[in-house]
Parts: sequence; C-alpha cells; structure tokens
Amino acid sequence: MKIFCGRANPTTGEMEWLEEDEDYDYHQEIARSRYADMLHDKDRNVKYYQGIRAAVSRVKERGEKAIVLDIGTGTGLLSMMAASAGADFCYAIEVFKPMAKAAVKIVEKNGFADKIKVISKHSTEVTVGPDGDMECRANILVTELFDTELIGEGALPTYEHAHKYLVQEGCEAVPHRATVYAQLVESKRMWSWNKLFPIHVEAEDGEKIIVPPSEMENCPGVPSVCDVQLNQMPSSDFTALSDVVTMFSVDFSKPVQSASTCYRVQLEPVQSGKAQIVLSWWDIDMDPSGMIKCSMAPHWVKPSAALQWRDHWMQCVYFLPNEEPVLQGEKVFLTACRDEYSVWYKLQKTSEEDNKADVGVESPVCRCHAHLLWNRPRFGELNDQNRTQQYIKALRKVVSTDTVCLCVSDGSLLPVLAHCLGAKQVQYFILVSDLCNLFKANHLEDKIKVIEARPELLKASHFKDEKVSVLMGEPFFSTSLLPWHNLYFWYARTAVTSHLSSNVTVLPQAASLHMMIVEFQDLWRIRSPCGICEGFDVQTMDDMIKDSLNFRESKEAEPHPLWEYPCKSLSDPLEVLTFDFRQTVPQHCLSTEGSVNLLRKGRSHGAVLWMEYHLDADVSISTGLMQISNEKGNCDWNPHCKQAVYFFSSVIESETLSDPGAVTYAINFDTKTGEIAMDFKL
Ligand code: SAH
Repeated sequence: MKIFCGRANPTTGEMEWLEEDEDYDYHQEIARSRYADMLHDKDRNVKYYQGIRAAVSRVKERGEKAIVLDIGTGTGLLSMMAASAGADFCYAIEVFKPMAKAAVKIVEKNGFADKIKVISKHSTEVTVGPDGDMECRANILVTELFDTELIGEGALPTYEHAHKYLVQEGCEAVPHRATVYAQLVESKRMWSWNKLFPIHVEAEDGEKIIVPPSEMENCPGVPSVCDVQLNQMPSSDFTALSDVVTMFSVDFSKPVQSASTCYRVQLEPVQSGKAQIVLSWWDIDMDPSGMIKCSMAPHWVKPSAALQWRDHWMQCVYFLPNEEPVLQGEKVFLTACRDEYSVWYKLQKTSEEDNKADVGVESPVCRCHAHLLWNRPRFGELNDQNRTQQYIKALRKVVSTDTVCLCVSDGSLLPVLAHCLGAKQVQYFILVSDLCNLFKANHLEDKIKVIEARPELLKASHFKDEKVSVLMGEPFFSTSLLPWHNLYFWYARTAVTSHLSSNVTVLPQAASLHMMIVEFQDLWRIRSPCGICEGFDVQTMDDMIKDSLNFRESKEAEPHPLWEYPCKSLSDPLEVLTFDFRQTVPQHCLSTEGSVNLLRKGRSHGAVLWMEYHLDADVSISTGLMQISNEKGNCDWNPHCKQAVYFFSSVIESETLSDPGAVTYAINFDTKTGEIAMDFKL
C-alpha cells in the first residue's frame, strides 16, 4: 500500500505530498520516538515498579486474583513488571501496530507469554466478556499516557472510558494520583515569546518606533503547549512572584471526568511585579500513601533533590492573555482551565468575575493573527534587539530614498525596517501573509506592497517597471525544519533574477554552514540503545529503532533547540560549505569532505550543524553557536533557533577513546532537492 506524506520542499518553500511506502511513516515515527528516552528514565521506571509491586500486594492481601490492565503498553515494560510482581494476568493494550508487534516479541523473549496478552487496539475498542479481548474487568489499572502537560495525549478520556467499561469499581491504579502545580512569574525573556515588543529604529530623520497591532494587547494566543527544559532557563531570566501552588489533582483509581472544567486558587504574591507567565509541572504518586512520587519539579523547588534528566516530560510555560501588575501580599485568583486535552490560565483580582466553574472554559483562540504567523521562538527572534540592530546596521548602508526593495521571508519585519530607513518602494513577497494588522498599526498599508505570487511569477509591473536594487531576507521560512531549509531564499533569489538591477545588493550576501563535534550532557539518551531495563530485555526495541534509522540507509540530522540541551564542544567549529547569494543557485551539487580534530577528551555523541548569514562583508548572524563559554568547552547557542544534530551510531566506541582522534566527514548539498546528506567516520 502507498500513503502520502507531507514534506516541505526547500527548493520551493511549499508543502508537497509525496507518495511513500506504507512503512515510511512508521519508520519515521519510531526513529524519532520517545521510547528510548522513557526506557532511560530510571527514576520513572523504578517508581513505576515500586508502585506496581505495592498495588499487586494490596490486591493479593485482599485474597483476590490480580488482573492488570496496562493501557499503552509500548514495549510491554509495565506489564512485565506486573507479571514479575506476581500479577495473575495482564492485558497489555497498544494502539500503535508496530509497537504492539514489538511488545509481543519482547514479552515472549522475557518469558511472560503465558501471563501477558498484547491487544493491538485503542483502549476504547477493547471488549470485555467470554468472547471479548478481556475475559473479565481488571482490578489493577496501569498506564503511562502522560505528556508534559499531563493530559495532552488524551489520558483523561482514556481513563474515563476505562473506568466505565474495562476495570472494576474500587480498582487499584498505578499511578494513583497526579497533581498539577503552578508558579506565577515575571519574565521578559518568556514574555517575548508571546507578544511583539515595540522596535526602535534610529533613522536619519530621527527615531521611529514600530508598534505591535492593538489586537495583540489582549490576544490569548494559541492553545498549543509551550514545553521547555525549565532547568536550563537561567534564574536571572525570570522573577518568581508567587510560591508554588497546587492547581488540581486527578485520582486515577476513581471514575475520571474528562469534560471541561476550571480550578481556582487564591494566592498572595511574594513580590510585586508584572504577572505574565505561569510556569507549571506535575507529579504522580504511584501509590495512595504518596510515598512513591515521580516529580517534574524544576531544580529550584527542591534544590537538594537529585534531578532525573528526561525529555519526554518537561515543564510548561503558559502565557497570561495580558500582563497584570500585582502587589506583594495583595490577594489574586489564579484559574487553571482545561478541556479534554489542554490547559490554560487566567489571573483575576477579584473572586466575583465568572464565579461559576463552567464559565470561560473555551480554549484560547488567537484573534490578532500574529500567533498563527509566528511561533514562540520566532516571536523571541523578532524581539531580539541585538539581532534587529544587526539588520538595521546592514540595511542602513544600502537603503536610500531611491531604493526599490524586495523582501523574501515569512512574517518578516525587514520591509518595515527598510521603510523606516527611507526606502522609496518596498515590496514584500511572502509565502505566509497576514502582517496586515501590523502594517495598519504603523500606517504602512500603502507604503509596503504585499505581492501574493510565487517568485517565478513576479512581473515587471509589480515593480512599476523599475529594477530591484535591494533584495533582502532574514532568511526565515515557516516550513523550514532544518537550518539549511532556509536556503529557499537562494532559490527565490534565483527565480527573480530578471527583476534585479545589475548592481543589486543581496542581503544577506552569503550564508555558510558550520559544524562542530560535541559531547552532550544528556541529549544522547534519546537515541541511545537501552539493552536491559529494570531487568527486562528490551533489545528488540533497540533493534527496531536501529532498523528505522537505517531505513533507506539514509541517516538524517534532526532539529533540536540546543539552548535546552547542554553540550561541550570536542572540536573547533568549522565552516564546511558556503552559499553565495550574489550568484544564482548552481546546477551542480556542492560537496565537501575532510577531517576535524578532536581537541578535548570526551564522548563524541554527534555533530551539530548550523547556518550563519553574512548580511554584508562586516555583519554576520549565527543561528547556532554564539560562543564557547569556558575552557571546558561549554557552548552557548542562539536561543531562538533549532540546530541540526546528527547522532553518531557508534557512540559506545568513542566512549572508550583514550586519545582524542579525528572525525572524517563528507557533506553534500544537492541543489536539485535542497537537502544536505552527510556521513561521518570516527
Ligand atoms: N507503557 C510504556 C509506553 C508508554 S508510551 C512505558 O511506560 O514504557 C504510551 C503508549 O501508549 C504509546 O505507545 C501509545 O501508542 C499508547 N497509547 C496511548 N493511548 C492509548 C490508548 N487509549 N489505547 C492504546 N494505546 C494507547
């Protein structure tokens, strides 16, 4: 069977539907899955095992048979724990077919085939009865269906259904309970991910200020969760305005309701400031006593506790609809609202406003359009004053009153900057439009012309028969996944060549691809084999991930925002390819090979690749490495961008490397596809 997969084409900037083998999709899913990360999460595994043992003992003490329902069994791990703990029988439910197949193999290999029945279905399709999937209802309910937001993967409707149809009344549940915590903070950095700040432009005729559209003022933004590794957020980047408060709990051993609801908590700020952000995380109690707790709390909550690194569960950043000044000691009300799958917050000064729990539970919808145009890192990038100043510096040199500008970039403010700096005509070609509100707020609707046509379809009439004297881009395109996908700017530049004047300035004039070999503090876990997990052999899972990574023998780099994932440089950063935007895209491929010396001892987990844009001969912007901050090799990364990470498959061997050696590489940019292929040898 063939299926269609969506993929952005970096040579056209458009989404394309490619016909793929049925297997392709699931290989992608497995290769990039979080299963390895979960299996490496020792704290989680140990506590589940303790909780499961305790639940099985309680049932046995009552003289009952222990019948377990494990919803979302994955590798079968939690069912094998239950069987080892003495459960009489386990029903292991898994909706993802390739995983269910793997679970059957793993269960068999570990000798539990007679105790565990793997059912390859969604739990809501499971039947109970003499001819059903399950002979009878279970009396122990085990699940691990949580995401960073707790409920984003549908845990609530799944529990609601399970209590109605699949488990006995008064059953044991592991985990027994989940609790969601919140802390009110002020943070310019995080607030800059959600609102556009005014931009100051120093022009010849005085200072000009670009203002955000008024619609943005009270816009609640989008409901998608903002999950980050909060432990990597420097404490200087936010101020706690409240203590940590408990927002709500869910008891999984009782019937669960998934219908929308709100939870209101009164709190007294411990400090005056601007309430902007709610930081949130949860913990799960594996048993009713609360003695076996698995917590996602960031380091400042319990500084003495050992932190377990994990990427499958992080912390959440919620944005209040508008910033609210609060005074130390003055009571305020924080409300968490949720529907079946997501949570959002609001802050009120009095308890009168919508007192009823069911009022105002609609999830946030962006009304200003900006939150649909810019995602959170992009907001952060546009609000980065330093970066904007670099563009202004470069633009100021080339923009004058007779400049005809063309901008090629998604949701870019460069046309506004160029206009402020005095350009005669500013044309704006965009793939994703809708900057209209911002143009209106700045009285620019007649000044900046938006051309909604593909670059190859531009006509001389678009430019009033003049030639473009400045072609500019950030470059940034919202369909880009990997750093080099923004090279679409080069393809667009090639397509508009006939409209460019002979002495056109292309800004940026060039880009370069950079590479560095790194040792990750933790990120390596997500792609590293697990072998034995709590005494169970899960190598079948490792092999399956390896097969998926090798599917079509094309290991790929993957995007990660490295400011969240500390690493140490083992080599100097190296410029490996350059792309001259003053010329058109060549017909032939651009390739390079060589070797890079390892300067520091350490485990070579992979190569990091990023782009640097050379706005002109003097001004460059890095989307990757900002600096190596000390002699240990710790790296600072651009906080707004994802870098490309290529994980080496032979990490283990390099671990035993006593003498730093060298890594050879071969990198090829295929100008036909816009993709970069790479190969490394340690
Ligand atoms: N229990 C495993 C895996 C947890 S990941 C472990 O703890 O290591 C969650 C798994 O649940 C995924 O494999 C997902 O496909 C599956 N899943 C989620 N909701 C489900 C549902 N309602 N019915 C069946 N499987 C589900």
